[in-house]
Amino acid sequence: MTARIIDGKAIAAGLREKVAGHARRLTERHGIVPGLAVVLVGDHPASAVYVRSKAAQTEAAGMRSFRHQMPADATQAELLALIARLNGDPAVHGILVQLPLPPHIDPHAVIAALDPMKDVDGFHPINAGRLATGLPALVPCTPLACVILAKTVRPLAGLAAVVVGRSNIVGKPLAQLLLAENATVTIAHSKTRDLPAVCRGADLLCAAIGRPEFVRGDFIKPGATVIDVGINRVALADGKHRLVGDVAFAEASAVAGAITPVPGGVGPMTLACLLANTLRAASAIAGLPVPVISDQ
Ligand code: NDP
Repeated sequence: MTARIIDGKAIAAGLREKVAGHARRLTERHGIVPGLAVVLVGDHPASAVYVRSKAAQTEAAGMRSFRHQMPADATQAELLALIARLNGDPAVHGILVQLPLPPHIDPHAVIAALDPMKDVDGFHPINAGRLATGLPALVPCTPLACVILAKTVRPLAGLAAVVVGRSNIVGKPLAQLLLAENATVTIAHSKTRDLPAVCRGADLLCAAIGRPEFVRGDFIKPGATVIDVGINRVALADGKHRLVGDVAFAEASAVAGAITPVPGGVGPMTLACLLANTLRAASAIAGLPVPVISDQ
């Protein structure tokens, strides 16, 4: 079998277009221009690239983009003061603090300081709790992206889904979302016994591990859908780098029914979901109905 490639770039472009349409209507009817503030502490080169492309896509969707760059030695108190200012700024509807933060800053304290209504990353304990209890919430963008991509292949109800990885950012919220879609969910991690066998039970396998090409072809049930969240930079012999996922793509696509590529899968969709969350936040803060952008 040769797997169908789930084209994250094209699906993301479609979602961004829908978001832009909703943003235009919000502006025309209510005078609200959704605004996304991105806070970057230090000069992590990969983060700087993400932040630039976030700004460009935010503006292309008819939203305002605010960038706040702080030096690597900025104190936690300075960062918390900036967040307090952004929480109170009516032009800002979404706040994203780019992770990872320098080691002297506690990310939990920073996330807890965000106004949950503006927490477009969906990491605040209030949003995590609302997701877990089935209440409307701002949901983390990468897990949301995974679910939307997986649903382009087939409905998720009743599927055996395995999520490898249990981070607060990806694995745990992804498991919650899949459960809400009525999948039967297993969460695997570094202590899971016989991981290949657990993965082979999956109709839907999501890998969020952070290890290049860790999931091999023989982890995959024939015909399964594979969602590869991993973004790993591996060095090549000529000194250049290449991005690979957590799944060995060539092997996996010989067995799977459908698979996301890296790059061009979950990554672009994550950014589109961030814009969708900013639009949702802007609507909710104004007391307007939250638009249905995708069926998520
Ligand atoms: P974390 O490092 O926070 O979590 C990794 C998880 O993988 C942990 O739960 C860990 O288990 C598990 N794990 C590690 N080694 C193994 C192993 N040998 N067998 C089974 N499980 C293992 O990573 P993140 O969740 O933040 O990110 C995961 C990947 O997704 C990374 O490549 C990251 O770059 C990428 N990513 C991509 C995004 C996108 O937009 N596409 C956004 C966010 C992340 P344990 O808990 O037991 O240690």
